[in-house]
Amino acid sequence: MKKENIKETQNDLMEKIVSLCKRRGFVFQGSEIYGGLGGTFDWGHFGVALKNNIKQAWWKKFVDGRRDMYGVDAAILMNSKVWEASGHVAGFSDPLIECEKCKKRFRADQLSDIKKCPECEGKLGSMRQFNMMFATKIGAMEDSAATVYLRPETAQGMFVNFKNTVDAFHPRLPFGMAQIGKAFRNEITPRDFLFRQREFEQMEIEYFVRQGTWEKYFEYWKDEMTEWMQEIGIDIKRVHELEVPAEDRAHYSSRTIDFEFDYPFGKKELFGLAYRTDFDLKNHKLDYIDEEMGEKIVPHVIEPTFGVDRAVLALIVSVYAEDQKDGEVRSYLKFKPSIAPVICAVSPLLKNKPELVEYANTKVFAPLKAEFGRVAWDDNGNIGKRYRRQDEIGTPFCIVVDFDTLTDNTVTVRDRDTGEQERIPVAELKNYINSKISI
Ligand code: ATP
Repeated sequence: MKKENIKETQNDLMEKIVSLCKRRGFVFQGSEIYGGLGGTFDWGHFGVALKNNIKQAWWKKFVDGRRDMYGVDAAILMNSKVWEASGHVAGFSDPLIECEKCKKRFRADQLSDIKKCPECEGKLGSMRQFNMMFATKIGAMEDSAATVYLRPETAQGMFVNFKNTVDAFHPRLPFGMAQIGKAFRNEITPRDFLFRQREFEQMEIEYFVRQGTWEKYFEYWKDEMTEWMQEIGIDIKRVHELEVPAEDRAHYSSRTIDFEFDYPFGKKELFGLAYRTDFDLKNHKLDYIDEEMGEKIVPHVIEPTFGVDRAVLALIVSVYAEDQKDGEVRSYLKFKPSIAPVICAVSPLLKNKPELVEYANTKVFAPLKAEFGRVAWDDNGNIGKRYRRQDEIGTPFCIVVDFDTLTDNTVTVRDRDTGEQERIPVAELKNYINSKISI
């Protein structure tokens, strides 16, 4: 395929994904009825469910599934001394450049020509550093002492609780702290749907090690991250590791690998893995008594960091599929059952037949809902329409109660990917679905 055609197909794919996300209640533009607010999105019912499943899969693997990890949920507002010590007040900035003609602003490091405006070809002004932290005031005073920042990363919430965690749990090195939460960055050019937002969510781990062992644990976390991406269903063939050169690394990092993903708009960062050395603990004047070695040390840190929103986007791009069914193009999301926002949908064949509705509701829907939670009731439109809707939501199984069910207590279970249907006894449904969730 020619280069321009590939670009067009990819733009087209992105448009289809954005529109599906809105149509099916995953993601909406933030403050939409007032014209939106750049770089913000609101999540609808299925988007929340998908995000929760991703976050739970992360927590299960990296916190509940281990004995060396301690969870944290720190406040978003922190004393501004934290951000002075961490280097963010002085150094968390992007190079900003403004067009003298159209007044549009750009990130200079993302332009191929820093003299000519990519929008109107006008002259670009001089470059200046733009701090990306959102500042606000705390309390009623308007003086500078009351300035606080919305956190631009969740990491510092863990570093400042390092001592509390050591005192409360007495962990031995190596051990980690993990946190899921919102982060805020005043991005100059929010763009590409969920990819670059001003308010987003991170899942981060700070893994504390002895200095001499950092390389071993860096490799170890690289593999863990890759494994998790595969577990949730991100297409690993689209993921590429980039060794970030020194001049592009964050101020705290001595080595960084970006996991880049082939999004429809190009190859860009999905997650990152950084060796933060002892930079943060040292700057916060924190240390650790290493009882095994009999000395006081400042542990070094390996940081695997995951963006929830980019995980959602990469996953949707990975599982989006189209095929031809009955002369029509069908689009569907091939989520793994363990991650899908809805695991199964229950329908009475006809909604005006009370005996079917009654059976479907009490003998199928209610017990499955009580067991799995992620179960939808769908009696809107004909069966074909219901299947198309559930395909777009990514529901792996559609269960239909028909007239045979009333006599033989079996239902039709339709597989989202193949469209094949099989008869399953109602009494077997829980086991059937349980066996699929583990996949
Ligand atoms: P980029 O180079 O794309 O700006 P970054 O290197 O600044 O990203 P990190 O500071 O490493 O990003 O943040 C950790 C993770 O948080 C990223 O890997 C990404 O998944 C997510 N993330 C960062 N910035 C944003 C954003 N503006 N919108 C959505 N997710 C983000």
